[in-house]
Amino acid sequence: QTTSKPPPLPSPLRFSKFFQSNMRILVTGGAGFIGSHLVDKLMENEKNEVIVVDNYFTGSKDNLRKWIDHPRFELIRHDVTEPLLVEVDQIYHLACPASPIFYKYNPVKTIKTNVIGTLNMLGLAKRVGARILLTSTSEVYGDPLIHPQPETYWGNVNPIGVRSCYDEGKRVAETLMFDYHRQHGIEIRIARIFNTYGPRMNIDDGRVVSNFIAQALRGEPLTVQKPGTQTRSFCYVSDMVDGLIRLMEGENTGPINIGNPGEFTMLELAEAVKELINPEVEIKMVENTPDDPRQRKPDITKAKELLGWEPKVKLRDGLPLMEEDFRLRLGVSKKK
Ligand code: NAD
Ligand code: UDP
Ligand code: UDP
Repeated sequence: QTTSKPPPLPSPLRFSKFFQSNMRILVTGGAGFIGSHLVDKLMENEKNEVIVVDNYFTGSKDNLRKWIDHPRFELIRHDVTEPLLVEVDQIYHLACPASPIFYKYNPVKTIKTNVIGTLNMLGLAKRVGARILLTSTSEVYGDPLIHPQPETYWGNVNPIGVRSCYDEGKRVAETLMFDYHRQHGIEIRIARIFNTYGPRMNIDDGRVVSNFIAQALRGEPLTVQKPGTQTRSFCYVSDMVDGLIRLMEGENTGPINIGNPGEFTMLELAEAVKELINPEVEIKMVENTPDDPRQRKPDITKAKELLGWEPKVKLRDGLPLMEEDFRLRLGVSKKK
């Protein structure tokens, strides 16, 4: 009597390909602003199963309300600085506070999240053979001496400043990604995200767009930090999510800038919010925080060429969409 042996397991184990047709996707930081919009988009595809891990430091279960109890969705309270055992095909690694107020609140924890958190997710990716995407940041360019910033620019970062826990943390995270790629053959993707805005941002998040919109709706002065001539380039969240998914699905490791090249001074942004939301509100100059980058604008040539991606939503079209969401959450209705 002969016994037939089972076929050998593929190595590295790709769960969806072997056991099932669904794609299992882990989103760390999925209860946050960008993460929850990414989850919405991924859940639209019926072949995707999504697992979110989040410690709720700056995110909230409420952002994922509509998916709780969905058979293709799972939410786990977990801190990425601790090891994680799950079986997945792709990892979108977003977990990390993004607002300066929150990442400076406990800087040592921010570094641990960036370094140990990314190391753990890379260890996980290595064990299960998953592809991993890191959401890095335009902050890796620091206070840039080249404008706009291409991916080839190495940056101008203060290694010992109050923002370093975040920007140096992300720089180490990028290094870890490339070392796991070179040393262990892990499939990596790195997105360098530029300032992103949209519905579901924390109302008291402290970032400039959410501050100005909340202030305009509450009838409080818009606090422009001095000198007000510093610039940022703001990307609407649906464009961002589209770029991240294209990067994950494409063939290029990155780093690739994902952002909207439309550049504004903070005074111009305040004027736009005032005009669109509350023409009666005052604009007030206030003190700035240390190491605030003076200018920032992505060179998105690479994203256009390699991902066929460019942003579609202009600031003046995106602000009213965010205004609607903030009105609902703040309970401020529109004057007739
Ligand atoms: P967010 O603060 O809304 O989301 C981050 C999420 O990560 C939150 O849900 C938070 O609770 C979670 N988190 C934080 N530390 C964690 C930990 N140790 N373990 C598990 N979960 C943890 O921020 P966001 O704007 O959605 O940013 C998402 C990612 O994009 C971050 O990695 C951020 O660095 C990057 N990014 C964002 C921007 C932007 O403008 N929003 C710009 C550049 C880069
Ligand atoms: N790790 C994890 N989940 C896994 C596999 C690894 O969280 O499924 C963590 C592990 O605890 C370690 C890190 O990822 O701290 C790096 O793992 P790796 O196997 O690369 O390194 P080693 O364990 O050999 O230090
Ligand atoms: N800023 C401002 N008023 C605020 C909050 C921020 O003028 O209430 C400025 C800040 O000085 C910086 C820019 O807006 O130049 C963007 O700050 P944010 O914290 O949103 O993001 P960053 O790009 O600095 O991470």
